[in-house]
Amino acid sequence: MKNFDVIVIGGGIAGVSIAYELSNDRSVCVLEMESALAFHTTGRSAATFLEALGTDQIRALTTGSRAFLENPPSFIESAPLSPLPLIMYAKHGRSAEIEAFNAAVSRWVPNSRLLSADEVIEICPVMKREHVESGFYDPNSMELDVLAIHQGYVRGFRANSGHIEKSARVVDAQRINGRWEIAVASGEKFSADVIVNAAGAWGDDVATHAGIAASGLVPKVRSIFLVNSPQGDATKNLPIVGDIDGAYYFKPEGHQFLCSPMDQTPSEPCDASPDTLEIARAIDELNDATTLNIKSVNSSWGGLRTFAPDENPIVGYDAGAEGFFWMVGQGGYGIQTSPALARLSASLVRGQGAPQDLIDRGVDLDALSPARAGLNR
Ligand SMILES: Cc1cc2nc3c(=O)[nH]c(=O)nc-3n(C[C@H](O)[C@H](O)[C@H](O)COP(=O)(O)OP(=O)(O)OC[C@H]3O[C@@H](n4cnc5c(N)ncnc54)[C@H](O)[C@@H]3O)c2cc1C
Repeated sequence: MKNFDVIVIGGGIAGVSIAYELSNDRSVCVLEMESALAFHTTGRSAATFLEALGTDQIRALTTGSRAFLENPPSFIESAPLSPLPLIMYAKHGRSAEIEAFNAAVSRWVPNSRLLSADEVIEICPVMKREHVESGFYDPNSMELDVLAIHQGYVRGFRANSGHIEKSARVVDAQRINGRWEIAVASGEKFSADVIVNAAGAWGDDVATHAGIAASGLVPKVRSIFLVNSPQGDATKNLPIVGDIDGAYYFKPEGHQFLCSPMDQTPSEPCDASPDTLEIARAIDELNDATTLNIKSVNSSWGGLRTFAPDENPIVGYDAGAEGFFWMVGQGGYGIQTSPALARLSASLVRGQGAPQDLIDRGVDLDALSPARAGLNR
């Protein structure tokens, strides 16, 4: 039996970020079922930092992460943020949606503004003028270096003597004499005062292994594909552009465009594949709305965005199981929220409540609680 203060289950961004935070004053072990960290959702993201998107709790956690990402600690070796303005645009007859979106988000992104169709084309000349009625613009949106952030947290964690076990799938957890005893598939055993469930799409499976009621998490497949850009070098200066009705988005990726059909098909937890039908549908619509003239796909992948029914993350100790801490349900925002979510979670694990700066931003522990009414428990 290997003994620690805290066992974190999952080596994606959620797991390594809270593991780093807690390793400042605790002995911490990360158990990851795969032979590599970040193999699942964390390694498959679109790498954007978009403060306008998500629920208000997501927006509070994203804006609360910005200062960390702008001035990262030295264990994050390259700058994690680079400029990538956001345009959400409306097709004809859909401007009311853009106006409602602007009204809902402007307090989170005060430099954002509405755009006329001509302004959308000026900022993003690959959009066809006849296809656009209006837009929303956030000049302060960013691109993320996901690897730099994930590997940085791992580096910081190891520097604090943190321990990582790969190929260690948790299959059972029991509370015995005031501590958790955890078994992994190989038969090895671990014990800890506290378990942090950071298992992403498998969050409810891990709870079930510990004899705790599932929370109603739903993993949803999101596909990404890369295509050539007719713009050459100019591609890199373009914004990320999304359809307000959720048909697709595209963003510059070197000399290519990274595109998504914005699919969200419910799935079991798994090694997700891209949905080729959804990709074909998005290519049709992109060729209608833009001058990308997509003829083939260079590569594609799929990943799982895992949501609670109310789309807020689930963060906090389980009310019915001593020492079992939930940190799941980050949906499509787990990278951009990770610094604030890790800081918040570590503070709650220590029993210290939420950091004041996050409360001031609107982080509400009741809205994140594993005991809230919005969950299927
Ligand atoms: C296509 C796509 C685009 C996205 N774009 C963005 C974006 O632009 N910006 C953004 O912020 N977010 C984005 N996201 C969301 C973001 O990637 C996720 O919210 C985040 O990666 C979730 O991290 P995680 O650590 O919770 O999950 P994961 O990275 O999936 O990590 C969970 C880990 O737990 C492990 N595990 C599961 N069960 C067990 C077990 N029993 N024992 C041991 N280990 C276990 C898994 O192997 C896995 O490694 C996107 C997601 C997708 C799919």
